[in-house]
Amino acid sequence: MVWHSGKTDVTKGQLFRQVPRLLFGSGVISRLGQLLPPIGSGRLFIIDSVLEEQNIAKRLPIGHSDVVEWFPAGEHEPSTAQVDELRDRIVGRSTYLPTGVVGVGGGSTMDVAKAVSVMLTNEGSSSQYQGWDLLRRPGVFKVGVPTLAGSGAEASRTSVLTGPTKKFGINSDFSMFDAVVLDSSLISGVPRDQRLYSGMDCFIHCVESLQGTMINELARSYATQGLDLCTKVFLEGGSDEELMTASFMGGASIVNSEVGVCHALSYGLSMELGFRHGFANCVVFNVLDDYYGEWVNRFRTILRAHDICIPKGVCSGLDSDAMNRMVAMTMKMERPLINALGEDWQDQFTPGEILSLYESM
Ligand code: NAD
Ligand code: ZN
Repeated sequence: MVWHSGKTDVTKGQLFRQVPRLLFGSGVISRLGQLLPPIGSGRLFIIDSVLEEQNIAKRLPIGHSDVVEWFPAGEHEPSTAQVDELRDRIVGRSTYLPTGVVGVGGGSTMDVAKAVSVMLTNEGSSSQYQGWDLLRRPGVFKVGVPTLAGSGAEASRTSVLTGPTKKFGINSDFSMFDAVVLDSSLISGVPRDQRLYSGMDCFIHCVESLQGTMINELARSYATQGLDLCTKVFLEGGSDEELMTASFMGGASIVNSEVGVCHALSYGLSMELGFRHGFANCVVFNVLDDYYGEWVNRFRTILRAHDICIPKGVCSGLDSDAMNRMVAMTMKMERPLINALGEDWQDQFTPGEILSLYESM
């Protein structure tokens, strides 16, 4: 029996993790109240501030004692400092914890909602919990409502945050949503490029999951169907409902397997160049022919069909200290690299190889 960090038995009898309650369909946001605990001391709604002008609040069951926090997801990817600050503000407001936390937005806002939920019950800074299975206590009941499809954060056990020294997930069963609402009407206004970049995150999740060593048959079925749907959406004009389904399936697949080489490299680009996740993944995947072969060609076909041109030479302005930090960041992504390349990944994925991949982007 082989055990990896994260305590996942990759050979047999693996616990399959999935969100226990799910509302699905166009317009189901109107039924969010059915999933929420009673108001009690009040619930906390964390909402992407871009949705304020779309009057999203009118579609949510926000009561008098509920609290709304608008999260500026458009500024940059979420940080541990933002999570800590938000948690401190909520704790400072009342002696009672909120009865529920609702995250409404893309992967960034949903990840903040997951993190705040667990940081309301676990002491210290969220940066202390970036890693695998470090949380001690369950969080407050939490619900995810994606308004952008692709990240799969609605289905995963990860809250990805940029900390003082690394971009890394809080990976725990306690950081999974207790319920999600998949309402395709919420993604209809997403700008075209953002839809594509986040959608390619889903495409890459499915590929990395399928090509990895930690896959099991159930996760493979999710990834296969997610990949088919994602490809259909971007090459044959599939629907928003199909894209939302693909995102969920990709997320459900990676939570039960792992990501791979692309994600291990892309976090470095986000740290040093501030690239958003979906875009960073596209920059990286574009040079991974040796690792993901035909899938990279399929990805390029999708980009061409959408007139998206991925820039080259993105690292040319970085000094050697920055390049070395990116290499070090990549080497910390042990689990994805074991998934992609096996236990002896360091034999082939050397600092020199990582550096030359960054230089080729
Ligand atoms: P995002 O949440 O970072 O949002 C990208 C942009 O889209 C932002 O400007 C946001 O304001 C805007 N946006 C969101 N909804 C919109 C809507 N309905 N209409 C118009 N604009 C909208 O993007 P994302 O791709 O969903 O998520 C990426 C983030 O998720 C990164 O921080 C990444 O690290 C994280 N992530 C997490 C997981 C996980 O499993 N937890 C997986 C992949 C990525
Ligand atoms: Zn991703």
